[in-house]
Amino acid sequence: MMNTVSGDTIWSKINNITNKYTYISKNIECDVVIIGAGITGALCSYHLTKNDVDTVIVDKNIIGYGSTRGCTAILQYEIDSNLIGLKGIIGEKNAVNCFKETENALFEIDKITKDIDDDCEFRIKDCLYYTYKNNDINFLKNEYDLRKMNGFDVKYIDQEKGKNIFSFNIKGGIYSKDLAAEIDPYRFTHSLIRKGVENGLRVYENTEVVNVKNENKKVVLTTNNGFKIKAKKVIIATGYEARKYFNKKTAILTRSFNIVTKPLTCFEGWHNKCIIRDTDDPYIYIRSTDDDRVIIGGEDEKLGGERSKMYNLKNEDVLSLNKYNILQNKLKSYFPKMNNVEIEYTFSGFFAETKDGLPYIGEHKDYPNHYFCLGYGSNGILYGLMGAKLIRDLYFGDHPPILNLFRLDR
Ligand SMILES: Cc1cc2nc3c(=O)[nH]c(=O)nc-3n(C[C@H](O)[C@H](O)[C@H](O)COP(=O)(O)OP(=O)(O)OC[C@H]3O[C@@H](n4cnc5c(N)ncnc54)[C@H](O)[C@@H]3O)c2cc1C
Repeated sequence: MMNTVSGDTIWSKINNITNKYTYISKNIECDVVIIGAGITGALCSYHLTKNDVDTVIVDKNIIGYGSTRGCTAILQYEIDSNLIGLKGIIGEKNAVNCFKETENALFEIDKITKDIDDDCEFRIKDCLYYTYKNNDINFLKNEYDLRKMNGFDVKYIDQEKGKNIFSFNIKGGIYSKDLAAEIDPYRFTHSLIRKGVENGLRVYENTEVVNVKNENKKVVLTTNNGFKIKAKKVIIATGYEARKYFNKKTAILTRSFNIVTKPLTCFEGWHNKCIIRDTDDPYIYIRSTDDDRVIIGGEDEKLGGERSKMYNLKNEDVLSLNKYNILQNKLKSYFPKMNNVEIEYTFSGFFAETKDGLPYIGEHKDYPNHYFCLGYGSNGILYGLMGAKLIRDLYFGDHPPILNLFRLDR
């Protein structure tokens, strides 16, 4: 069985969420059934129930216990493939459009947290994308020019400017104003589900879907305890486990590592506690939390097959401990003045990358009455939101053109 997260993640530890939902115990019918109650499924259920669609959501585990609880929850307008890279694949207009859509999704999350009466520690932030290598300076300058020309609120940081506001070595960087955010993903998922329930959502935990088939223009799902769910449409929001629907090259799976400090008092050398990412491959990412912890992540490794070491890695394995050690040393080198740094949580989880950094959202000719909402890539959460809205539109008969960029057969 796929175990997408290992270790104690901060989100399921700091939240004392007592909401529990029963497993399915009879045959039921609905308009739309969602498989997977992570952040993506929860966002789908929110948008559908807000539009009075009779919706059921099921998870084989408990709410939010997949990758959702194992993520860093950095939300950014920038996409892994960068504007220059994405332009090379889908053209400038489309690439800019994707960046604008992720920017809009940021502010959409802000609105949703207000609607669900729980801010979920959502905070708009600035972000820094930088390099410490001379070789990457030109690329960053070009990337900056393209973003600036297309109206994004960015500043270029050269070595001199970098020295004044950051304590680590910056050769060049793009500083983006209010174009990123942080959130508590586990709490957000639970609050979305709670709001959905107020709007008529039916939720079943510990309910695995073992079979889906089409019957008389409907889908019929069979659960592990033998009950049936009949619906007009099914949404596949099973995260990285949905890879089984496609050929293996759809996304490359890696394992990413995170450490979380105890709350700290000194943040010297960290301008505005902005979100930080470097140009390395794999890259390092850093954020803070509402209670002044620091999360630093990265050190990604390719997963390999289902019997590989990386696939089955435990949190106390030497390999994991080594990764956590490297991350702790990196944190020290970023912020030498941070004192009394103690690590409270360490965890790692599956992470998927697509070639163009874009998600897989929409329909597939081989799977009638299915919608896929797979936010692969480092913008997984924002893609989940974009997907939830696009699938709502598809359900109501619209086909927004951007879906063409997120096609599953591309
Ligand atoms: C270390 C790390 C850092 C990350 N950092 C970020 C970040 O900073 N920003 C960001 O946006 N993203 C980040 N991600 C990615 C992010 O975690 C994912 O994009 C996101 O959690 C995906 O949510 P999901 O709901 O699609 O999947 P999941 O949370 O995995 O939910 C899928 C659910 O489907 C259920 N399921 C599967 N199969 C079945 C079945 N047959 N029947 C019933 N239920 C089933 C599972 O139990 C699970 O609960 C990170 C990931 C990792 C591992």
